[in-house]
Amino acid sequence: MKIIEFDKDGSENRSRRVKILEFDRGQDWDTSSVRAPAPQPAPRASSTPEWNPSHARRTSTSLKMHVLDLGQLRLDKNFVVANSTVATAREPNPFGQVIDIPVSAYYIEHPDGNILYDAGCHPDWSGPNGRWPEHLQNLFPVIGGEECMLPNRLEELGAGPDQIRHVVLSHLHCDHAGCVEFFRKSQIVVHEDEFAAAFSHYAVHDESKPYALKDLERWLRLDLHWRRIGRKEPDQNLVEGVRLLNFGSGHAYGMLGLAISLRSHPSVLLVSDACYTAENYGPPMRPSGISHDSIGSARTIERIRATAGDMKADVWFGPDADQFKTLRKSGEGHYE
Ligand SMILES: [Zn+2]
Repeated sequence: MKIIEFDKDGSENRSRRVKILEFDRGQDWDTSSVRAPAPQPAPRASSTPEWNPSHARRTSTSLKMHVLDLGQLRLDKNFVVANSTVATAREPNPFGQVIDIPVSAYYIEHPDGNILYDAGCHPDWSGPNGRWPEHLQNLFPVIGGEECMLPNRLEELGAGPDQIRHVVLSHLHCDHAGCVEFFRKSQIVVHEDEFAAAFSHYAVHDESKPYALKDLERWLRLDLHWRRIGRKEPDQNLVEGVRLLNFGSGHAYGMLGLAISLRSHPSVLLVSDACYTAENYGPPMRPSGISHDSIGSARTIERIRATAGDMKADVWFGPDADQFKTLRKSGEGHYE
């Protein structure tokens, strides 16, 4: 086992290194060695029943969903709700508003294979040699202790990376895909347009979008098992009670959501950055300040509204601080 890239910034944290070592126990970190790729998880789509929104609650199985609190990002509110701060003739230089928004992921225990939705920030996001470029560290600093990093949150639940069959990435921005490299045996589910675009940014060293190119470089060197969801691929069940929603372009080049049917709680749509907050959702809808495709973003929000109506589901916005406060976090309990 070889640990790399965890102490280059001079801020080595022994406890964190120990945690990461434990999280990666049994996995080969020496990428110079040749090894056979781990077997792909067996396809299960054909064995899962057809989705029927009106039966969502009745057909749900014994899944448990844990809400993972991965700290917060501190940023200008204009990124979340566009034009939150507007200069006027009377107030030509208004104060900007800096807010903290949650970073979250969702771990779903399921008898047919555990699922993780989103993968937070890489533990080594900061510092002179951190994974994030300096301008992203300055724009979106992460607030939170070591306990907020994804490996530690999963470890608190007794979950290691080998126990997770599907890692679904809503998109590849640095605060949603940072820890994906730890899941060497999982199927990594990502939209094909997001995958292609992020690696195009990497190829030409374009840091204008919130992709951490150092993360992408690492992924290229690893045997990750990517499953790319096509632009025209329909929504589909990953396992019974967990449906993959293909939102397409909007906030980023290709967005994925999940619909979760629960037995003792209304069904839930996990939409991540496809709709930041209740303020964006409306109605009336308000655009966010970070959008690859503003028309696609608006279309996605209408699609979320329609799906939530069909399923009588709650919509859980990824970075809505007010809503996140109301959710039961891992350690406090789970949803089932
Ligand atoms: Zn994003």
